[in-house]
Amino acid sequence: MTDTPSARAARLAHLRRAELAKGDPVALPLTLATMFHLPGDPAGYAQYGRFSNPTWDAVEKMLTHLEGAPALGFPSGMAATAAVFFGLLKSGDRILLPSDGYYTTRVLTERFLTRLGVTYDTRPTSTFLDGGFEGYRLVFVETPANPGLDICDLVAVCEAAHAAGALVVADNTTMTPYGQRPLDLGADIVVAADTKAPNGHSDVLFGHVASRNAEIMAAVSDWRKLAGGIPGPFEAWLVHRGLETLHVRFERMCNTAEAIAPRLAAHPAVSKVRFPGLESDPSHNLARAQMDRFGFLIGVTLGSEAAAERFINDCALIQPATSFGGVHTSAERRARWGDAVDQGFVRLSIGCEPADELWAALEESLNRSEG
Ligand SMILES: *Cc1c(COP(=O)(O)O)cnc(C)c1O
Repeated sequence: MTDTPSARAARLAHLRRAELAKGDPVALPLTLATMFHLPGDPAGYAQYGRFSNPTWDAVEKMLTHLEGAPALGFPSGMAATAAVFFGLLKSGDRILLPSDGYYTTRVLTERFLTRLGVTYDTRPTSTFLDGGFEGYRLVFVETPANPGLDICDLVAVCEAAHAAGALVVADNTTMTPYGQRPLDLGADIVVAADTKAPNGHSDVLFGHVASRNAEIMAAVSDWRKLAGGIPGPFEAWLVHRGLETLHVRFERMCNTAEAIAPRLAAHPAVSKVRFPGLESDPSHNLARAQMDRFGFLIGVTLGSEAAAERFINDCALIQPATSFGGVHTSAERRARWGDAVDQGFVRLSIGCEPADELWAALEESLNRSEG
């Protein structure tokens, strides 16, 4: 079988099969354990719940399969990013962050890394290559960036960053491994919030780190074990279940987003739409080159804060909520958190509702939004 997203999805559904003994349950058992039966020499066995857990192993096996690289689970997306920073950086290192990416990554850096002697700069994703990467130990990219959905050229960034001696970390939360695999494009490390589409049911926080570099994975694994930022087995079990349907949900969500984005763009109440799948989008050509799909997030700008709030809150098929990637369509006005976006900017996360019904509800709410 070739190594396409569809081929990976097909194999994912049968990953456990090779390990099953006759009579074993086909579904993954949830193992809640701090202690393991351990007489004598403990080497090579499960030892303690902060070090290992069979339910983590199962979800990490899935993530490893999807990323094409060893993966480790974390209790949230931010725990994964923090493990990379605290596991790999040291005093004197300088890092580069996107100015328009997930804001918590910048706050974590400003609040806790700078006082350990790590310095940082920020740069917009759309012009991320400008200025080069000389002097950076680590370059952190997020593409498409949440929430503005600008894109940077991963191959070009990785080449230039590597030439300057920097490691490249890609936050792939907005795309999932079915939409884009930054490691295949040259990134050293992927971090992602499986809280979003991979779990998909808005009931678990989870994250992972993946890398083909064994030294990096050893440092991140030691950080997790020693700092204790470990995932709960039940959360891992739920994410394992979520990942079983990620492909079918992601395809549906991306297809619907592609159908809906042009209709949004043509609606008179909408002043601007950002979606990498629109031919008119500044990111379109790059998205075609490096992404397998265009994703399920759409940036929609309405005429005013009030119009945006009415559109979100009065639509029968929009869940007003922060976060994204659930089976239900959700949306929020990002300016309410202080993101540097227009007051009328709405991040719309397309869910699994049938496309025509969803569009009818969105259109009705848009028609009413101007008040
Ligand atoms: C949500 C998100 C995170 C953080 O994930 P948590 O699970 O909430 O910690 C990191 N990066 C991006 C791009 C996100 O959207």
